[in-house]
Amino acid sequence: MNSHEQQAFSLISQKRNNAKARASFALQELYEDKDFFKVDCEIKQLRFEIARLGSQNSGFGTLNSRLVKLQEERAKVLKSKGLTENDLLPKYSCPLCEDTAVSKDGAYCVCFKRELSQLLKESAGVIPTAENEFKSSLLAKISEEAKPFYKTAYRALKSFLAEFPDNKAKNIVLFGGAGSGKTHASAILANALIDKGFFVYFTSSLALSQLFLKYHLAPLNQKQDIFAPLAEADFLVIDDLGAEIIYNNVSQECLLELLELRAQKSTLITTNLDLNSASFNEVYGARVFSRLNNKNNVIALSFNGADLRNK
Ligand SMILES: [Zn+2]
Repeated sequence: MNSHEQQAFSLISQKRNNAKARASFALQELYEDKDFFKVDCEIKQLRFEIARLGSQNSGFGTLNSRLVKLQEERAKVLKSKGLTENDLLPKYSCPLCEDTAVSKDGAYCVCFKRELSQLLKESAGVIPTAENEFKSSLLAKISEEAKPFYKTAYRALKSFLAEFPDNKAKNIVLFGGAGSGKTHASAILANALIDKGFFVYFTSSLALSQLFLKYHLAPLNQKQDIFAPLAEADFLVIDDLGAEIIYNNVSQECLLELLELRAQKSTLITTNLDLNSASFNEVYGARVFSRLNNKNNVIALSFNGADLRNK
């Protein structure tokens, strides 16, 4: 279990404990009624006696009919208080697994998956859309000349999603101008991966550069905590590389360090930049370039053309 799964599991067991505690509290309150207490004790004793006789293969005599009578009496007392037997049972928030997080066939229950997905969303950063499906409806908004780019990119991202995390090329770079739909597409992929239970971290390059600066200035013993979510996420999105503030001796080094730490993991970068331009090389250096331009490990997709934001 990873830390998110542990957290989801403990949230659900907490619900189970609360449901049981509430039920037991309701029963304690009822015990203050002497009639109820008396009849409830008698029923317990009688059940014990019946079980004992049963294990000895002895007859029960009139014990069973006595039990039925006592249970009727108990029900009557409950009814006089406006209650039923049902009110004394724990009210589990998930009737499928009774808040154990495990369904009858031994798999994780849907409630566990829902809880996990919620936790993952909370720790994923701000994702600009809640959509989690690659739909053709967006096509209507984009220009004819941009449609082929858009379709190709969506198809590629869709199959990336289906293969995740066993993709041959682990990284994606989406190229395109402002409003071309590349951020939207990466958000859809991010949400779909969260729904599959993966730990996703979505950050703008601007927020990332602030984090890099914080990392750079932090004392040694705090550095790891700052970098941890970036390094540990199953899928990291850096949105709009090139729009950030560049800090000398920080931005390039930190980005390279991050990409190196994530060598075995998947990272998606959206950018308006031309990787082959002199300015890219100047800002990020040859080593970042070679990581983003490695055809064996990077799927490069162009979103050139349409401006979705203006339509
Ligand atoms: Zn459940």
